[in-house]
Amino acid sequence: MKKESILYSVTPFDPYGHKVLVRLTLRNPEPSGQSFSLPAWIPGSYLIRDFSRQIETIQASSRGKPVGIRKTSNHTWQCDPCESTLELEYTVYAWDLSVRGAHVDETHAFLNGTSIFLCPAGREQEACHVDICPPPHARNWKVYTSLAEAAGHPRGARRHGFGMYAAPNYDALIDHPIEMGTPQVLRFKAHGAEHEMVFTGVAPNLDLKRIAADVQKICAAQIALFEPQTKQAPFLDSASRYVFMTMVTGDGYGGLEHRASTALMASRRDLPVIGQDKTGEGYQTFLGLVSHEYFHTWNVKRIKPAVFAPYDLSRENHTRLLWVFEGFTSYYDDLMLLRSGVIGESDYLRLLAKTIGSVQRASGRFKQSVAESSFDAWTRYYKQDENSPNALVSYYTKGALVALGLDITIRHASAGRHSLDDVMRLMWERYGRDFYNGAGAGIDEDAMAGLIHEATGVDVRDFIERHAYGREDVPLERLLPLQGISISWRPVSDNPTLDMRLRNSHGETQIATVYEGGAAHRGGLSAGDVLVAVDGLKVGDSAGFDRLLAAYQPGDTVIVHVFRRDELRAFDLVLNAPLASECVLEPASAVGKHS
Ligand code: ZN
Repeated sequence: MKKESILYSVTPFDPYGHKVLVRLTLRNPEPSGQSFSLPAWIPGSYLIRDFSRQIETIQASSRGKPVGIRKTSNHTWQCDPCESTLELEYTVYAWDLSVRGAHVDETHAFLNGTSIFLCPAGREQEACHVDICPPPHARNWKVYTSLAEAAGHPRGARRHGFGMYAAPNYDALIDHPIEMGTPQVLRFKAHGAEHEMVFTGVAPNLDLKRIAADVQKICAAQIALFEPQTKQAPFLDSASRYVFMTMVTGDGYGGLEHRASTALMASRRDLPVIGQDKTGEGYQTFLGLVSHEYFHTWNVKRIKPAVFAPYDLSRENHTRLLWVFEGFTSYYDDLMLLRSGVIGESDYLRLLAKTIGSVQRASGRFKQSVAESSFDAWTRYYKQDENSPNALVSYYTKGALVALGLDITIRHASAGRHSLDDVMRLMWERYGRDFYNGAGAGIDEDAMAGLIHEATGVDVRDFIERHAYGREDVPLERLLPLQGISISWRPVSDNPTLDMRLRNSHGETQIATVYEGGAAHRGGLSAGDVLVAVDGLKVGDSAGFDRLLAAYQPGDTVIVHVFRRDELRAFDLVLNAPLASECVLEPASAVGKHS
């Protein structure tokens, strides 16, 4: 049979040294000298990460003879001219416990293609094979991935087995991460489509049945939202199943979306254990994350900004539309928990109130619009520091409020006939449904108002101009009552405040952020200062600091001692009244205000 023209073989080895060995066999290399590159970033996480720095050794050969290879840029290697099949052999250091990199130890291996698959220049559109090999130390390991088993290949892998897998092109190859090990696994079908969820890491008594039942409802509701007639799952264009790969740790949180899978980090305490029935806030956080990443299967993995179609993996790809791709997704993640029935209305309003509160607390929203924040994701949102709350707005949280504002505006202006759902469906039909079947086009940067008008008949140009491209707050005090929801604000604490955020670090209480214009800012305190005493009394941890302030009234002056660098400094500070920054949402009927 015809030999594979691009073949990777991947073997985790040296579990204590966290290594992956990759052999790349390339037939018909560029005779004048083939070059190879690794992506500078991983789609979905908008930061240049230079994955190539984890390649420790690399050598090239052809017919058993060495071929010269050298680096020509941060991410690129160039081979000497070579006429026949070229083989690269390289080792990758894999000890990044995140959803974005590669992680290998004696218990499992998690591999993102962006960390391990060098791309032969000019061969991006060619199909390739991947031979996934068991590490020498593995006992009973299985393979979990949405990558397709190489059907018909003599060494084609069986489901969950080691052996040959296949991808239609490089873009697909790096969009199906691979987990291997002995995880806990659950399976369910949503509208007939197979889903599997694997949990790596120690998680005793995990209530898999309960998680399966809840996640099934969320997936089914999302499939029905986008495809109300056919109920066709979106990932069937790329894979036979959807895989949730969850790494369980003490306090992990995060996710990264792919076309037929997602990598998640979850905290052990957020996951339900057998015999525990209530849906606590932690479990809602986990389900919200699951819902968020699954929603991306449509919104950003198939419906994309034009600048992501295709991605340029060698450099930053700037778009002003992340308020749509992350913001709308953040709006729908919790909303789909409500619609699918896994949480009730009061829990939903609590989650929404938390989002509203977090947006209102940061004054950076007056300096940056969500469109600007999106454009600057690479250098600002993904590189946050102590001043970020004063300087940035989140295209996730404020983007979610823009989506909420648009949804209510559309529902009100169309007398309930239309909603943001119609906008999602139009974007899906026009851009998403056939994205991997040859359409491949994305949404132009200034197209949103036109698309919303087309889907709903409602003119939202002014709304988008003010709240997405401008810096005005979404007018929720006016909009939420139109949906029968009352909004009010109350102080987070009864104690007077210095308007700063603290963190406990190594037994000390440090100032994490000084809010611009607040009491600490006016009095001279800075981020990084270590709190020592208030009016001569030892601070202790951050809770101790709050207890000390409880003895005072707003307007009182206190002397605060801090260490800045290693110098003891004293500042006179005038305490503020606590801000009413905690948002409270209730059904209007509950507070007697029918509208
Ligand atoms: Zn997201």
